[in-house]
Amino acid sequence: MSKPSGQNVIRLRGVRHNNLKNFDLDLPLNQLIVITGLFFDRMDKPQVDNIDGIPPAIAIEQRNAVKTTRSTVGTMTEICDYMKMLWPHIAQLHCRQCGRPVRKDSPQRIWQFLESSSKSSAQIEDENEGGGRLREVLITFDLPLTEKLSLEESLNLVTKQGYQRLLLPVGEAFVRVASGPQLELNEAAAPWDGPNPPPAPSREGSGNARATRQSPSREGSGVGSPSAAAARAVHFEIARIDQAMERLRALKPRSLTVIQDRIKLSAANRARFVEACEQAYHFGKGKLAVRLGESESDSTIQRFNDLTFHFSNRFHCAQCDIEYREPLPALFSFNHPLGACPTCRGFGRTISIDYNIALPDRSKTLDEGVVKPWRSGHGVECQQDLMKFCKIRKAPTDLPFDQLSKQWQDWVINGDPDYGKDAGHEWPRAWYGVKGYFRWLESKAYKMHVRVLLSRYRSYTPCPDCQGKRFRPEVLLYKLPIDDLRFTSAESSTGAASIVNRQSQITLADFYQLPIRDALQFIEQTAAQHRPATSDPIGLVLNEVRSRLGYLVEVGLGYLALDRATRTLSGGETERVNLTTCLGTRLVNTLYVLDEPTVGLHPRDTGRLIKILQQLRDL
Ligand SMILES: [Zn+2]
Ligand SMILES: [Zn+2]
Repeated sequence: MSKPSGQNVIRLRGVRHNNLKNFDLDLPLNQLIVITGLFFDRMDKPQVDNIDGIPPAIAIEQRNAVKTTRSTVGTMTEICDYMKMLWPHIAQLHCRQCGRPVRKDSPQRIWQFLESSSKSSAQIEDENEGGGRLREVLITFDLPLTEKLSLEESLNLVTKQGYQRLLLPVGEAFVRVASGPQLELNEAAAPWDGPNPPPAPSREGSGNARATRQSPSREGSGVGSPSAAAARAVHFEIARIDQAMERLRALKPRSLTVIQDRIKLSAANRARFVEACEQAYHFGKGKLAVRLGESESDSTIQRFNDLTFHFSNRFHCAQCDIEYREPLPALFSFNHPLGACPTCRGFGRTISIDYNIALPDRSKTLDEGVVKPWRSGHGVECQQDLMKFCKIRKAPTDLPFDQLSKQWQDWVINGDPDYGKDAGHEWPRAWYGVKGYFRWLESKAYKMHVRVLLSRYRSYTPCPDCQGKRFRPEVLLYKLPIDDLRFTSAESSTGAASIVNRQSQITLADFYQLPIRDALQFIEQTAAQHRPATSDPIGLVLNEVRSRLGYLVEVGLGYLALDRATRTLSGGETERVNLTTCLGTRLVNTLYVLDEPTVGLHPRDTGRLIKILQQLRDL
């Protein structure tokens, strides 16, 4: 080793540890140095005159010191920390009842939606009527009426805010004299408690154009506002507030539909439209409606009978009227109470009595002591109880347990039906079952020997509620499309490939179950779709995830899944995962000490590992 000049060295002087013969050594900084014949373990203070120039050091060991079972490859590498920020931004919430996508409808999004749907209907008008017209729309919001205020007081308040017009349903008398498909009064969308509407008139001859106008196709528009629900056609008319009192008294409305603005859908009106929507959202507590009408007449009594779209600036499914909370990053963390499955608290598995351990040999009869803990010690009394109740209930005690009927097997394990319901259903009057025995033991778990006994009969099973996904159900409503991933070989235990092949949308839990090399491919696809600007925080987060997944693949761990529990990793795997974490945090001027980093590594991956170490050096 050539002697480097200056202070860029770790200087060891008078080294005499073990068999070392009092020598001096300079270790150059910013180099990869391989030292053999050294074992990492707890070391005594080295026998040396002095050592100086040691930068802050990080030892990357093979030892797997992780105790918490919530730690996974994903949490260890901080990928989970980035994913919980990323997922609410890139994934789409789906309504838990109807499965439709649920989005916030920004005024801009509403505008785009109306523009595309009015274009498609204008085309049809062109064909059928020889000329497309600009549609006029009403932007309205509903104000619920409270019992605290009289109708007059409520109307006064609305007027004071500067509003002059309301939307009222067309009166019954009007409907009766009219006929034809143009005049329907359906109960669906009216916020009024009205009399039963007359039966809807025949729709014969209403024609294709009208049908299309009633439900404009959102396909191919690329926008589609899913929470915008097209209500069934209802007739409304505009009324001045000062002239509406009498009508309102008769209608007994539960809410007022206030007209925010009446706008023609032209590009010049876009800014005004957006502002009107913002105002309507403000007074309508986050909800508004856009009603499309015909612009044939300029009279005040204009009928808006075509379409009503409901929008919300919150996460709200207009179809099912279900509101979803704002997706905070904590929701997407199984290490946080907000996101963790309540049953297993994010561990993905639960610990409970394993009856296969309690009754290990089911070819034994009840008489022979099929229940293992009852063969000795205090358990013998329970065996006597069992025999006593077998006599009373006439249960066969000389048949092998696995030949007993299902009912008798259940009775032995679960006890009498309704055991513990009241004093009449308790020992000594009723049979408590193996289950009752363990429940009683658990109540005595403050005693050490009972805890030891219990631990022998407990085992982990995948959480029955989340099936090991660790998240609460709400989290799994957020999905992201996945397309055409050519899967190599998924880690066998996860079965991830089969999950993904069956569905085109994946949840965050599915993502964590992907083999890391597929997860990397998925993130690259997502980044390509979003193409965030360089200053966009989403882009930064995507890059962090991408580089960390890339490091894991480079050190030969592409076969692992992010939800692989850390405690099940081998020493070599643990060390290499830790190594990528160091790369991810990009600590410079740091001394990294690695303990046999290639242990357990396939020889073909050694070259890539060295490349990683060089990257670490050159940070
Ligand atoms: Zn829904
Ligand atoms: Zn669970």
